[in-house]
Amino acid sequence: MKMQMQLLDATVSTPIPPARIPDAPHVFSMSCKVTAVNGDLATPDGRDKAIAWWRKYGFTKLWLESYRHGEHAPTERLVEERDAFRAAGFEVCGLITPTMLNDPAPGASEPQMTTCWSDPRARERMRAEVARAAWVFDTVILDDFLFSPCGDGCPRCVADKAARGIADLGEYRRELMFEVCERDILPAAKAANPKAHFIIKYPCWYRNYAARGYSPARQADLFGECWIGTETRDANPEPLQACWIMAWMDALTDGKCGGGWYDALDCKPEKFVEQAYYTILGGARESLVHCYDYVLAADPGRTPFGEKAETPGACREAFEREAPKLRELAEFLRGAERGPFAMGADGVSTHEFRKNGGRYIARLNTADRPVAGLPPHGFELKGR
Ligand SMILES: [Zn+2]
Repeated sequence: MKMQMQLLDATVSTPIPPARIPDAPHVFSMSCKVTAVNGDLATPDGRDKAIAWWRKYGFTKLWLESYRHGEHAPTERLVEERDAFRAAGFEVCGLITPTMLNDPAPGASEPQMTTCWSDPRARERMRAEVARAAWVFDTVILDDFLFSPCGDGCPRCVADKAARGIADLGEYRRELMFEVCERDILPAAKAANPKAHFIIKYPCWYRNYAARGYSPARQADLFGECWIGTETRDANPEPLQACWIMAWMDALTDGKCGGGWYDALDCKPEKFVEQAYYTILGGARESLVHCYDYVLAADPGRTPFGEKAETPGACREAFEREAPKLRELAEFLRGAERGPFAMGADGVSTHEFRKNGGRYIARLNTADRPVAGLPPHGFELKGR
């Protein structure tokens, strides 16, 4: 058995302590991209269909996106949908994906996907989107596209880096991203809505945080809350990461990790559901399915970097099958103490919990074959 501690990269060796899972109902939530907000969800009929599905499968909270990839959801539409979903009993928050905020490069038909933050025009556009979202929603989450690969190949970044007297590219990106958060995002949000609470979401590729501009401990202090991506997808060789990264981020940010976010991109249905189990087993207070567009819509919308939602219908069906067990697990974990967990060489992970004086073992088979009494991708929770 390989203990979870050994899975951590030496450069990010924040320990994962045992922890008590909050004794509060676990929140199942779903994000809706601009494509859905401007499409299916823009009509009462479309909303009714979505509401029926969300209710049936235990979702109580929505995150409506106002901006992504240069596409906007009009403010009046956001207000209309916010109010309609609230009237139906849902908690409704906002979402911004900070992509395509620069001008297109000369000769290019559209802006680059990730943002060059040394560009004052990109920061101006970001402030405008932040203000708009904060005007509609008290709570807004930022998709993990704050990161930037811009630097050595960009004359503006090269000059800015030199002017700041910073030699290291990662340090420059961290400095710049923090400045965008501190001087652009949060002031623009507070000016539009004094009650605005913005959340920074981190991707699950934790090994590259520092090089791409993220400084979670410092940023979580600034925002007051962060979230973690548990979107391990098919290609990640550490499936258990979707479980331990929640506790790891919570420890790194002094308890400020508010939830886990996974998606249906580049994953088979079994992997989609595995991410759901691990997000809950990791102790998340809220698990967010990204997104309506990938799981429930006919049109998944545009996905960056060639990522694909190839089996949306199959992911939805797999989730529907597992939903009762996921809810049962989340309910059981309320107030439980999370003990050790580990991935076995056979692909079955084992998770120990203590509750009401009892000891319980959860097991999840990540393999495509039956292992140790569990069917392929099977889950069980047993008292001992
Ligand atoms: Zn640049």
